[in-house]
Amino acid sequence: MSNGTIAGLAPGAVIGILGGGQLGRMAALAAARLGLRCHIYCPEPNPPAAQVTPHFTCAAYEDEAALAGFAAAVDLVTFEFENIPLAAAAFLAQRVPVRPDPKVLEVCQNRLREKDFCATAKVPTTRYAEANGPEALARVARDIGLPCVLKTCEMGYDGKGQVLIGGEDDLAAAWPAMAGAQPNPQGIVEGFVDFSLEISVIVARGADGACRTYPAVENQHTDHILDRTIVPARISERVADRAEGIALHLAEQLDLVGLLAIEMFVTQDDEVLVNELAPRPHNSGHWTIDACLTSQFEQFIRAVSGLPLGTTDRLADAVMKNLLGEEADAQRLEILSDPTAKLHLYGKSEARPGRKMGHVTRLTPRD
Ligand code: AMP
Repeated sequence: MSNGTIAGLAPGAVIGILGGGQLGRMAALAAARLGLRCHIYCPEPNPPAAQVTPHFTCAAYEDEAALAGFAAAVDLVTFEFENIPLAAAAFLAQRVPVRPDPKVLEVCQNRLREKDFCATAKVPTTRYAEANGPEALARVARDIGLPCVLKTCEMGYDGKGQVLIGGEDDLAAAWPAMAGAQPNPQGIVEGFVDFSLEISVIVARGADGACRTYPAVENQHTDHILDRTIVPARISERVADRAEGIALHLAEQLDLVGLLAIEMFVTQDDEVLVNELAPRPHNSGHWTIDACLTSQFEQFIRAVSGLPLGTTDRLADAVMKNLLGEEADAQRLEILSDPTAKLHLYGKSEARPGRKMGHVTRLTPRD
């Protein structure tokens, strides 16, 4: 694997981004402002990210000829979502620096590895255990205690592949509901957390080990999908410090070069438990585009490019609301007429229910 160092990308250099969604789009826009170019690699045609840069490879992650051509066309590779096949990341890493390192992907694309990693780093999570089939599930769930949550270890997002087991009667249906059509499902059982609120912290770490965190934000979900992010989170200074400390510690333990979002639960007695890690820009950081001098997307580009990190000071308080499905079209003109609102649309043509089509950030002066 290449561990090549880059002495800070120069203007005109090309960053390869695996994945073509809205996170890649907003990252490519931020890169352009720094004079850098992005080349998107994605299996789907006309993805949001490829609408803002002319450099695009549309090919499968298993297509080694296309991956080799992509590696030859870029100065470094990063990714905008973590469900990239590890083999593709490893193949690229033999040819060009990949940041964050593929070993970070390996940890963060599997819920069990992620929780084991937290345990090794002495960072608290809810109780958890692996369940490899329906029989194991019943045993493990009773051991963890009901209610609990069964999740698929890989490829689950926005609540997909996730089942609440409220009591004994739910056990029989839980495994098939979680597994769906997956050929070899691996499950993890987590103790149900009766949280007071959900928060996240985004941390950037450069190749030189320098770190910057954005303030802890509060996340409200509807049907397991992020609905709004409230900035700053309505938590005590002690809880905010704890959350920030966890973020810095995990970034160091992962030897991260790039961005890491840490989703956490705040329990009723103000304990902070890590729920999930995402080694890339995160939906709960979209507010930074409008309320910070350095957005999470610019920070991501700076970190992977070997450039100095920017300030994470927040210039205003903010509420970010996702626009799902038809909401974007229905609310677009009203939002554009609101002087406190900033609209962001992702260029997706098909407004399927629950699909993230855009977001709106509303700013208020800081207290
Ligand atoms: P996840 O895909 O793990 O981020 O889960 C999506 C959402 O489901 C979380 O943001 C929580 O609202 C809820 N959730 C996930 N895991 C648990 C848990 N162990 N206890 C309570 N709620 C959970």
